[in-house]
Amino acid sequence: MQASATPRNPDWEEDELILVLDAYLSAKPQDLQKHSPEVSELSQLLRRRFHQLGVVGAYTLRNVAGVYMKLQNLKAHDPAYLARGKTGLKAGNRLEKDVWHRYEEYPAELHQRAEQLRKFIQSDISVGDVEDELLSTDETLAPEGRLLMRFHKRYERRSTNRAKKLRQFSADNGGRVFCECCGFDFERAYGSRGKGFIECHHAVPISKLTPTQTLSIRDLRLLCANCHRMVHIAQPWLTVENLKALLRK
Ligand SMILES: [Zn+2]
Ligand SMILES: [Zn+2]
Repeated sequence: MQASATPRNPDWEEDELILVLDAYLSAKPQDLQKHSPEVSELSQLLRRRFHQLGVVGAYTLRNVAGVYMKLQNLKAHDPAYLARGKTGLKAGNRLEKDVWHRYEEYPAELHQRAEQLRKFIQSDISVGDVEDELLSTDETLAPEGRLLMRFHKRYERRSTNRAKKLRQFSADNGGRVFCECCGFDFERAYGSRGKGFIECHHAVPISKLTPTQTLSIRDLRLLCANCHRMVHIAQPWLTVENLKALLRK
């Protein structure tokens, strides 16, 4: 068997930087040594995330050395560190700087997002099997990052959730199923071929759920493919009501 080339490790993503920054801000600097348990736990968590996403990386993928290095990189943005006259290692990518600036004033919000991510990663549900060409565009724009976006899509597509939402909606609307934004009714337009054809959208982004909230059928909306796409196409995601107002103009 021919040995395949070692895959290049993927660039750091927002989800990961949130976890790393949260660890950086929560720990005492002396806890973040190369051999501290905090660093190896973080490495395990990030590796598990890639496993869930179905990404195959080299054995060096987010290993302890890589994670430790990223923690060092963060010092370049840390006013407390720089005030001591120290200079950090040269900062990594732009996203790292963005994430730092976005959350430096809001450590509680950062911590909540990190906790949410940890919860989903530890749930160990594989989301690597969500196949959709359009998903990759959505993912890069997802306010919640790639992993939670996959969970979001997975929830929207799960047939039991769909079936339940459709049953409720149809019962409330005289047996009809239509887009809650533009009113498009696939059955009216395409006859029996379009019967029951509609997409489900979870109106609350996972990143906006409070720690006690979970994804819920109550937050599902029925949308045609066009409207659904328009909701997700840019940050921040629009509410169905906002999109409706946009359409009326
Ligand atoms: Zn629509
Ligand atoms: Zn959606």
